Amino acid sequence: MEKKIYLDNAATTRTRPEVVEAMLPYFSELYGNPSSVYEFAAQNKKALDEGRTTIANAIGAESAEIYFTASGTEADNWALKATVEAYEAKGKHIITSKIEHHAILHTCEYLQKKGYEVTYVDVDEYGIVKLDQLKKAIRPTTVLISIMFANNEIGTIQPIKEIGAIAKAHNILFHTDAVQAFGQVDINVDELGIDMLSASAHKLGGPKGIGFLYIRKGIRIRSLIHGGAQERGRRAGTENVPFAVGFKKAVEIALATMKDRTNREKELRDYLIKRVLAEIPYTRLNGHRTNRLPNNANFSFQFIEGESLLIMLDMNNICASSGSACTSGSLDPSHVLLSIGLPHEIAHGSLRISLSHENTLEEIDYTVDKVKEIVEKLRNMSPLYDDFVRKR
Ligand code: PLP
Repeated sequence: MEKKIYLDNAATTRTRPEVVEAMLPYFSELYGNPSSVYEFAAQNKKALDEGRTTIANAIGAESAEIYFTASGTEADNWALKATVEAYEAKGKHIITSKIEHHAILHTCEYLQKKGYEVTYVDVDEYGIVKLDQLKKAIRPTTVLISIMFANNEIGTIQPIKEIGAIAKAHNILFHTDAVQAFGQVDINVDELGIDMLSASAHKLGGPKGIGFLYIRKGIRIRSLIHGGAQERGRRAGTENVPFAVGFKKAVEIALATMKDRTNREKELRDYLIKRVLAEIPYTRLNGHRTNRLPNNANFSFQFIEGESLLIMLDMNNICASSGSACTSGSLDPSHVLLSIGLPHEIAHGSLRISLSHENTLEEIDYTVDKVKEIVEKLRNMSPLYDDFVRKR
């Protein structure tokens, strides 16, 4: 196929054309600083506030509870570092899970070096957090539970409502990293008992470089970034108005299209899963069969290296991702796949496919055909597979 097939929408999405169009005037025509007093700049403050309101409505929050950040990573860092600091008098213990994004895990490691204690709760074979273990981990000094809404690698959706109830029953703050879930599943912070929530625009057709942190009214939190009085004195730095306008547009489209879009993605995903499992032997689906993001499929193919598969898919114009921590330059298998109990050698042979509204059945068929062909080729070159076949 001549055309590029983009199947890595969990990494990032194409910025929707309507989003780009909405943003453009705010670069070169409506470029005022929202903090300035004159009328020209008031339009920027208005645009910023409208963005905040749209986002707040999307999760059942109030606009004063939404704070723009420069990324999902910043929102995660802020939620963790600045609440534990504010609640230090109560204690220094945090609970999270073993399958969080590195924006959470590396922040927790940093906090451990600073004298905080962190419990990393296990997940089951599908990647669902073990609630019994979570409850047992609670101490009088626990100030924060941070569990992701949906996993970025295997797509598993967590029992967020139950976790919210556990946190509330013990008077502990509950933060969720909803970077993958926002725009893909319904979220209402009150119904789910969420106190803080992180999200990022570029995962739902918005621009890269803007996210937000929802902070429930009344929660004490320090600033992560110091300077001017922007974001009600909690997050300094001149606001990125064009990106906030783009974020607003992306959220509006994501909400308006959510039902039809996710149903279609689910159909394509299930078709993909069915074909891969039926046609490629020694393959497993990672994550929960049904309780997963509508656009996520993650497979492990025995006897192959995920990186080789990715490179060969790339040579066929297919963009996908593996479970390895390739971004860090290491070939360590994914912490998520190890946490769901996969042995190293199987975790190494993994492939994540994440769909968008733009993908077609034809693209999925082409991709499955290619994956099948490449896996066969790689297995035929593998001494392990050779050995396995001989002993069969
Ligand atoms: N959290 C999760 C679950 C993610 O998937 C990502 C990005 O992949 C992030 C946080 C970081 O978001 P950002 O790219 O906006 O920094």
